[in-house]
Amino acid sequence: MSFMVDDLKSVACSTIDRCATELNAIGRAIWNSPEIGNEEREAHRILTSFFKANGFDDVDEQFVLDTAFRAKGGRGEGPNVAIICEYDALPDIGHACGHNLIAQAGAAAGIAVKAVLDKNPHLNARLTILGTPAEESSGGKIDLIKAGVFDDVDAAMMVHPNSFSSTTADFLSIHELLVTFTGKAAHAAAFPWEGVNALDAAVTAYNGLSMLRQQMKPTWRAHGIFTEGGIRPNIIPHRSQLNFYLRAPNDKELDVLIKKSINVFEASARAHGCTVKIEDISHFSNLLRNSTLMGSYAVNAKSIGMEMDIKDGSKPAGSTDMGNVSYSTPSMHPMFSIGNAAKHTRAFAGLANTEHAYERTLIAAKAMAMTAIDVLTNSTMRDSVKADFKAQLDEARA
Ligand SMILES: [Zn+2]
Ligand SMILES: [Zn+2]
Repeated sequence: MSFMVDDLKSVACSTIDRCATELNAIGRAIWNSPEIGNEEREAHRILTSFFKANGFDDVDEQFVLDTAFRAKGGRGEGPNVAIICEYDALPDIGHACGHNLIAQAGAAAGIAVKAVLDKNPHLNARLTILGTPAEESSGGKIDLIKAGVFDDVDAAMMVHPNSFSSTTADFLSIHELLVTFTGKAAHAAAFPWEGVNALDAAVTAYNGLSMLRQQMKPTWRAHGIFTEGGIRPNIIPHRSQLNFYLRAPNDKELDVLIKKSINVFEASARAHGCTVKIEDISHFSNLLRNSTLMGSYAVNAKSIGMEMDIKDGSKPAGSTDMGNVSYSTPSMHPMFSIGNAAKHTRAFAGLANTEHAYERTLIAAKAMAMTAIDVLTNSTMRDSVKADFKAQLDEARA
């Protein structure tokens, strides 16, 4: 059995090696035309044409969202692995999160697993490639989850470039709020007592959140900006707005922080006689860890020379909509090192367009493809993936 699996894995790896030039060109082309969330038309075109040109007959180009897609391979009703491509960039600083490489890795692992399934018609197994837009903003994966895309997926996986290699990282739950205070305008010198100052309410709220920090756990985060604060100094501001991100290690703790913050916003409005509207903009869950998937990835990566720098995954990370996926189906989101720079900087954007990064991407893609093969061919492993998933969900919801 294991000899056969090793054969399948070497087919996957040699497929990636054979197509390396074309795969690197995908990473480079997407890097060269950075597009922000939900506007990734060029990246969407590059990827969907690639999959169609590489034997995927079933490519759904208008899938749930304008710039999302789904490509299917394999056959039957057997196990199904989803490989995820992200491809959105950041405003101004381009591919500073390296999502061009995530797309390249998804393309590489996609054709690798497909080659294995095509060469082994006796394997009753399925492959689903998903193009998921807007990870840096609205979180396209949330729309795909709502559409039921992950309902018959046994494992969902993607790889993300970083300054270290690890099977996971500490991805936090995040909740984004838009808080609008409304007061009453008045001449700021002639009769200021007629006014109700919405900026004062926002300042009180901002300071209130800052004071609340003393009572926050060290792992919680609250960070906000003023998006509106009045028009001119001689008009008492009748409207102000705060945009806040609240984060915690999991949804349960985040709920506590959200409630405490809402108290501060409401009390600040009341203190200044304003009204307040609190809008929920988005919610990403923390990333649940599936130790079976992570273990398989680490072993596969090691077999082709990629060691994990961080063994326990305890490295601070931001938040990702892959967290939401990890609550609906067993998931993994390993990091692979492309050099020494922090994500979301111009320096990282520079690293994401180097020969070294493209090479590392293909190694991570091979490890991901081999992990997909493990899932598709090993029912004992699938049981263990499922058991891990259930245990993590139970713990998160307890
Ligand atoms: Zn990012
Ligand atoms: Zn990212």
